[in-house]
Amino acid sequence: MSPDAPVSELRNRLVDSLVRKGYVVTRSVESAMRSVPREQFLPEGIRQDAYVDSPLPIGEGQTISAPHMVAIMVEKLDLVPGNKVFEIGAGSGYHAAVVAEMVRPDGHVFTMERIASLARFAEQNLTAAGYGDIVSVSVGDGSKGLPEEAPFDRIFVACGAPDVPSPLLDQLADGGKMLVPVGGRMYQDLIKVEKRDGKVLKESHGGCVFVPLIGEFGY
Ligand code: SAH
Repeated sequence: MSPDAPVSELRNRLVDSLVRKGYVVTRSVESAMRSVPREQFLPEGIRQDAYVDSPLPIGEGQTISAPHMVAIMVEKLDLVPGNKVFEIGAGSGYHAAVVAEMVRPDGHVFTMERIASLARFAEQNLTAAGYGDIVSVSVGDGSKGLPEEAPFDRIFVACGAPDVPSPLLDQLADGGKMLVPVGGRMYQDLIKVEKRDGKVLKESHGGCVFVPLIGEFGY
């Protein structure tokens, strides 16, 4: 397909390949990935690369995650409509938008970003793409969680942490699920945490590469 193909065709083609490669498994994740216009979450100069399966720079030394990584995380989080979700690391707002598609119409996504200019970028992108009502962006150190909105059904950290931040564990609802890339500054293991009857279960889901979580319970 030529690079001049309509953007919706480029998006569908990318999602087709994510399905073929096994990153997208469920119908609901497939439909969410087909719905969110990734180009609207990128700085203007790089929008033509929106449907390349790669992380891309969004300013301040940060990156929007690759579509396959967003797909992996959205699949593993087992999101259902109505979930109250907390994301650490809003970045461009794209990942939050995909999650919003999964939890709508009654759910809500709270996303926190430590860099104020990126929080503004995420908020503008989310509003322009029609997610302003279902996603709330705030500025701050998300490693401490968002106690005023806790507990959360789902929590995911979109940056790499030295360990699972303990405030996030406290703010996860019973029956809740959380994803955290845990490891070094350059390479992490995607850890899935589940809380059941007050017990915490942790499971490793393979290697990943995220920018570091900077904060009190991060680096
Ligand atoms: N989810 C984003 C990608 C995030 S990249 C997207 O879809 O575009 C990781 C982001 O986490 C960066 O923007 C970085 O500034 C932010 N970050 C790092 N440490 C943080 C912290 N303690 N609290 C909130 N955000 C943090």
